[in-house]
Amino acid sequence: MTVAVLAVQGAFAEHGAMLEELGAQVFELRKAEDLERHFDGLVLPGGESTVQGKLLRELGMFGLLQKKIEEGMPVLATCAGLILLAKELSNDTGRYFCTLPVTVKRNAYGRQLGSFFYEGEIKGIGQYPMEFIRAPYIESVDKEVYVLAEVEGKIVAVQYKNQLAMSFHPELTKDSRIHKKFLDMI
Ligand code: GLN
Repeated sequence: MTVAVLAVQGAFAEHGAMLEELGAQVFELRKAEDLERHFDGLVLPGGESTVQGKLLRELGMFGLLQKKIEEGMPVLATCAGLILLAKELSNDTGRYFCTLPVTVKRNAYGRQLGSFFYEGEIKGIGQYPMEFIRAPYIESVDKEVYVLAEVEGKIVAVQYKNQLAMSFHPELTKDSRIHKKFLDMI
């Protein structure tokens, strides 16, 4: 199976390496023509959501990616990727794909807790190393959204149909069980 990793900005290389280790074919989406290639799954990496959103529109990639997600393409979104998917942002006027019916708070842990590590439970997977970097969290979810993980009462990972999204960075650890779950979705 082939996975396309959005590579306009942010931590995309690590996702590709992890997916290749699990046996997937991977290529990077850098420009509109890359969307003409066939792919079975999409990764939206961490980084800066405002920059990614702006580049997606400027590069002419936004509409087609949104359509693919709406039509059921499996997506793995981490951190800024979660912000791109969210239907609502509670502390920002930006809106991007709006395909995931959740409300997300950007940079939700403030400056002092900008980056931290937590070992928490992910439903169906078990204990997981979670690396948070200027992370968002999910303030509320629609009732069809399945909550996969919470850290101190805040939702940090969800699944909704074809979309698997989390506020931490599984690609920055050695644990590839989330990427494996994503490949299983494909
Ligand atoms: N703070 C970033 C944003 O709001 C997300 C951080 C990340 O992806 N690690 O877009």
